[in-house]
Amino acid sequence: MEEITCPYCGAVNDVETIDYNSDELYEEECDACGKTYGVIPRPRWDYDTAKLDCRNGMAEHKWRPLHQGREYPQECIVCTAYAGGKEQKDAMENKEDD
Ligand SMILES: [Zn+2]
Ligand SMILES: [Zn+2]
Repeated sequence: MEEITCPYCGAVNDVETIDYNSDELYEEECDACGKTYGVIPRPRWDYDTAKLDCRNGMAEHKWRPLHQGREYPQECIVCTAYAGGKEQKDAMENKEDD
């Protein structure tokens, strides 16, 4: 059950949407004004958050080589840190020190 707002009169209707498929048009009749309007279900975005301790200098990056059999480039499996070579990686890990 979803609360759907009628585009004609603005009344909120309780609509049973359990069988609805995304992006298809469904006809509903407004309880308040009696007009027929269309409902098009859209998927909603949810956002998860994650702590990036390594990005905040609270933990080491967890480096992993991007290509098998080659040491570099490497990326961190926790955050988006990327190191193309050893010097770059060392600089990233030691940036708190200078
Ligand atoms: Zn209405
Ligand atoms: Zn990281």
